[in-house]
Amino acid sequence: MAIRRLSEEVINRIAAGEVVERPASVVKELAENAVDAGATRIEVVIAEGGAGLISVSDDGTGMDRADLALSVERHCTSKLADDLLDIATLGFRGEALASIGAVARLTVASRHASEAHGWEIGVAHGAVAPLRPSAIAQGTRVEVAGLFEATPARLKFLKTARAETSATIDIVKRLAMAHPGIRFDFSAGERSGLSYRARTGEGAALERLSDVLGADFAPNALPIRAEREGVRLAGFAGLPTFNRASARDQYLFVNGRPVRDRLLLGAVRGAYADVLARDRHPLVALFIDIEPHEVDVNVHPAKAEVRFRDSGLVRGLIVGALREALSAAGRRASPTIAGEALRAARPPLERRAADDWRRSSWRPDARRGFEYPAAGHGGFAEAEAEPLAVPSADLRAPSIADEALQAHPLGAARAQLHETYIVAQTQDGLVIIDQHAAHERLVYERLKSALAGRPVPRQMLLIPEIVDLDGEDVDRLAARADELAEVGLVLEPFGPGAVAVREVPAAFGRLDIARLVHDLAHDLAEVDGSTRLRERLDAIAATIACHGSVRSGRRLKPEEMNALLRDMEGTENSGQCNHGRPTYVELKLADIERLFGRR
Ligand code: ADP
Ligand code: MG
Repeated sequence: MAIRRLSEEVINRIAAGEVVERPASVVKELAENAVDAGATRIEVVIAEGGAGLISVSDDGTGMDRADLALSVERHCTSKLADDLLDIATLGFRGEALASIGAVARLTVASRHASEAHGWEIGVAHGAVAPLRPSAIAQGTRVEVAGLFEATPARLKFLKTARAETSATIDIVKRLAMAHPGIRFDFSAGERSGLSYRARTGEGAALERLSDVLGADFAPNALPIRAEREGVRLAGFAGLPTFNRASARDQYLFVNGRPVRDRLLLGAVRGAYADVLARDRHPLVALFIDIEPHEVDVNVHPAKAEVRFRDSGLVRGLIVGALREALSAAGRRASPTIAGEALRAARPPLERRAADDWRRSSWRPDARRGFEYPAAGHGGFAEAEAEPLAVPSADLRAPSIADEALQAHPLGAARAQLHETYIVAQTQDGLVIIDQHAAHERLVYERLKSALAGRPVPRQMLLIPEIVDLDGEDVDRLAARADELAEVGLVLEPFGPGAVAVREVPAAFGRLDIARLVHDLAHDLAEVDGSTRLRERLDAIAATIACHGSVRSGRRLKPEEMNALLRDMEGTENSGQCNHGRPTYVELKLADIERLFGRR
C-alpha cells in the first residue's frame, strides 16, 4: 500500500460536500458574499430549483483582476486576517467559490472601480479557465450551472425542484431580515418571486420583517430590547395568541448571521413555555449582537450553528427579555384574532356552505378539549351546585354604574351567552370573553405567586376523596407528599391501589380531584427523583389551575362576571390561557360597523 497525496481537485470535491449541500447552500454562500461586499441590491435567480442555474448579482465593491483570479482558489479570502476568533463578516473560510467550482460550472464576472472594465473567470468541475474581459458594469455576478451534474450520487439526493426552491426562499428571507437596508429580488422561473425594497430609517427592521413575515406580524409583535454584560438583544417577538403549528417562523441571528441554533431555539421555547401549549410555536425574529471573541461561528461548515463562550448568559438574556415583554403585554390578545372573528361573522349569504357554520368558532364548547363531570366531593363550593336564578343574558339598560365600568379596558359585563362567553361593552366596542380560559389564567397566575412564597392556603375536605391509582403512582405521590402539601394538596396512601386526598388548595370553585391527582401522578412520572417539586411548580400550578377553573357551562351572576373582568385587567398574561388560547376577543365599533356595511 502506498500513501498518495490527494489531488487539489479531489480535495475540493470533498470540501464541497460539506459547504455545498444543495442549491440553497450555494445561494446562501453567494448572497452572503454580496452582503460582505457592501451591496445595496442583491438579485437571485434560480431555475429548476437551482439544479439548472443559479445566478446571484450584486452592486457591491466588485473584484479587480488579481482578486478575481484568487477568489476561486481554495483558502483564498479577503476577509480573515489571522484571528479565527475575530470574525465580523459572513464569510471567512475562503472555500465557497472553490467548492462550488468543484461541483458545477461556475462563472464569476466582476468589476472593481479601479479597473477600466470588468473581468470574468470560469471554473468547470475544478478546471479553471483563463480570465477574460467582461462587459459587466459594476459589482459582481456569479452564475452556477449544472450543479452536481458530474456527481450523480449527489444529484440523486436533491429533493424536487419545488422543495429546493422553498429551501432557497428560506435562505433569502433570512438574509433579507438581517439586512433591511439591502434590496433583495428573487425569482425562480414559474414561481412568483420576492422583492423587498431597501428599508431605511427608524422602523426599517420591523418594516422588513413585515415584508417577509406578512403584514400581520407588526401589529402582533412586541419589541424586544435588552442588554447584559455587553451582549445585546433586539428584535420582535409575536404575541402568544399569534402562534404557528411549527417552529419554522423563528428567526435568529447572531451578528447579522442567520443561525438555526438549538440553544437559542430552546431559550425561546422556555420563554413561552408558560403561555403556549407545547405543540404551538411563536413567531420571533431576534438579533443578538455580541463581541466576535465571545462566539465561535466556525463550528459548522455551513456556519448555521454557533457556540457561545458563555451560553448561560445568552440563554438568560433571551428568556428574561422575552418573559418580561410577554408579561408586560399579558393583557393583550392578538388583534389578528378579532380579524378572524370578523371574517367568521360574515353575513350568512356570503357563506359558501352550511358546513362553515359548523366549523365557525362561534359555537359554544367547540374548542373545549375537556368537560369533566363535576366531582362528587363534599366539602366546599356547594353553593355552586345550586341552580342560579340568573337569566343567561342580562339585557338591562345601561346604568350609571355600567358607564363607569365601561371605562375599564375590558368594559362592563352585559351578558353571558351559552353559559360560556361573557359579552362586555367597552367605550368603543365590545369584548367577548371565554370564561373558562380567562379563569384558568387567573387561577394559574394566582397560584404561581402563592407558590413562589409561603405554603399555599389549603382547605380541608369534609369527606376525604379516595382516588384509585396504580401502585407505582401511589408510591410516587406518597414520596412527594410533603412537597405536595406545600402546593396545597394533602394526601396519603389508602391501601395499595389508592390515595386519600384530605386537603386541597383553597380558593377554588370546583375541583375535579380525581382527575387532578391522576394528572399530577403522570407529571411526577416525568420528573426525575432529584428534581425538587418547587422547580416544577409552574407545571404543577398549570395542572391545578386547569382543574380548578370555572368551567364553561356555568352561569355567572353579573357581579361575578364583572369581578372576573376586573381580575383579568389586574393579572399578568391574562390575554391568553396557559395553553396559548386567547381569553378574549375585542371588536371595535368601527369593525362592527364595517360588518354591517356602515363604513
Ligand atoms: P469567503 O467569503 O469565505 O472569503 P468565498 O470563497 O466565498 O470565501 O469568496 C472568496 C473571496 O472572493 C472573498 O473573500 C472575496 O474577497 C471575494 N468575493 C466573493 N464574492 C464576492 C462578491 N460578490 N463581491 C466581491 N468580492 C467577492
Ligand atoms: Mg463567502
